[in-house]
Amino acid sequence: MLKGKTALVTGSTSGIGLATARALAEAGCNIVINGFGDKAAIEKQRTGLEKDFGIKALYSAADMSKPAEIVAMIGEVEKNFGSLDVLVNNAGIQFVANIEDFPPEKWDAVIAVNLSSSFHTIRAAVPGMKRRKWGRIINIASAHGLVASGQKVAYVSAKHGLVGMTKVVAIETANSGITCNAICPGWVLTTLVQKQIDDRAKASGKSVRDEEIALLSEKQPMHQFTKPEGIGSLAVFLCSDGAATITGAAYSIDGGWVAQ
Ligand code: NAD
Repeated sequence: MLKGKTALVTGSTSGIGLATARALAEAGCNIVINGFGDKAAIEKQRTGLEKDFGIKALYSAADMSKPAEIVAMIGEVEKNFGSLDVLVNNAGIQFVANIEDFPPEKWDAVIAVNLSSSFHTIRAAVPGMKRRKWGRIINIASAHGLVASGQKVAYVSAKHGLVGMTKVVAIETANSGITCNAICPGWVLTTLVQKQIDDRAKASGKSVRDEEIALLSEKQPMHQFTKPEGIGSLAVFLCSDGAATITGAAYSIDGGWVAQ
């Protein structure tokens, strides 16, 4: 379906980003993966994409908190593949504390990676998409882009901002062959969430499994983690012809979290 297109997924060395990169590769896209991690493991992921799906895959080490590296990365993608057609803004970090205890440098870091990076990638990618009259921008927001929880002031602010940015970009690109949508997952069991569960178990003295169930049932009517592959499938759908007029939407995939 997406044969010959190029997709960049930020923060795709693990979790949701990696699953989304693999889903887009399966749909035929050449892929640029990005993110931190062990060099050998990343190279294995890159070659795995090429072998498993018969596409070309590159890795960019750009730090999503550094605007100059982001702009250079978009330039490299366009130079190497001739176009950037599908942009998935996925890189994200978390920090949990009450606002009066929230270190300002953690606020800056969360806003930079979870919000400002998408401004910089979209700003750099849109001119090429407009020239080619086709583009798909998918912002991985969160249920926390639509509703709040305590102790997550930076994350919730960033994700609400990202849903707002999605709407603005959708309006500005509405007649350019470009769509821009947000995906708002509930709990997905990745390293980002596992750390929160482990921290809770350490603080409460309860088992990790007990804290896993507590975490789910506090927020989701459905006591089940969303699989990263489910988010990949939704991203592929948003790139399909059937989704050509879906723009500015925030798609929940959250076990009923924001239905309440
Ligand atoms: P994860 O920790 O498994 O992956 C995060 C990715 O971002 C990694 O590849 C990491 O290397 C990369 N990254 C972090 N800082 C970076 C930086 N400065 N530059 C480049 N890459 C960087 O997390 P995940 O759970 O897969 O989260 C992916 C996205 O999904 C995030 O935006 C997160 O907020 C969002 N999300 C996750 C959940 C969940 O339950 N896991 C729920 C809703 C939204």
